[in-house]
Parts: sequence; structure tokens; C-alpha cells
Amino acid sequence: MIDLITCEICGKLYNPNGFFRVCPICYESDESDFKRIKDYLNLHPCAKIFDVVADLNISVKKIKRYLRESRLEILEKENHFLFCEGCGKSIRSGIYCDECYKTHHKNIKVICSDSNDTKHSNAIRFRSDGQSKRASSI
Ligand SMILES: [Zn+2]
Ligand SMILES: [Zn+2]
Repeated sequence: MIDLITCEICGKLYNPNGFFRVCPICYESDESDFKRIKDYLNLHPCAKIFDVVADLNISVKKIKRYLRESRLEILEKENHFLFCEGCGKSIRSGIYCDECYKTHHKNIKVICSDSNDTKHSNAIRFRSDGQSKRASSI
């Protein structure tokens, strides 16, 4: 018997479909939103998080989830937007900072064992909208 999972977006119960914790319907709209972000960032490289939120009408929560899933990545290390669930440090994508990631990997079995170990490889990068210090050029 399969345990049903609650969709993280709409709260409906559905059969687990692997990696993403959303139902098939939300998954589709999720994919199209992600595509819109991708296109947007192609046109506006280094757009800020809140530009994306405002221009595409996509919720911050959703963007945060993309970040957690390592599908997006914030450019700045100190972004005050996404934090490690282990130690609370600013991180650019995923759930844990590198140190906690390593620690947790020792203890937790890898659920989704992708062959390659490159955590951030394909992530799309953009800027947080934090009080980013003026980039001291050179
Ligand atoms: Zn759903
Ligand atoms: Zn940490």
C-alpha cells in the first residue's frame, strides 16, 4: 500500500511521485513558473529576487522552494534570504550550508542518489534583494 503525501502547494493528498513534494497538477504549474523565471533571468541576468516576484507575479515562498531544491541559486553568499536549517547561516541554495551538508550526509542516507555529486551545477543564479553592500570593484 502506498502512503499518500500531502502536496506542499495545494494541500491535496496524492501518490508520491519521487523527488518533488507536490502533486502532479501543481508540478505542472510549478514547471511553467520555473520556466518563466528562467526566461526572465535570461533577459535580465542578475535580476533581484523581488524583481522576479513583482514582474512575474510569483510568490516569494515559491522562489524559496526553488532555492531549497537547488534549482535556483542566489549570487551573494550573505543574502539574508535563505538560511541553513542546521546552523542558520546564509546559504545560496539548498537546505544546508556546506559544513552542515557534509555533517548530515554522514548521518542521513541519501534519498535521491544522483550519480554526480555536484550540488549546485545547473542552478540558475540571481541576486537577493538584501541590503547588499556595494560591490567593491577590484
Ligand atoms: Zn498540489
Ligand atoms: Zn549550516
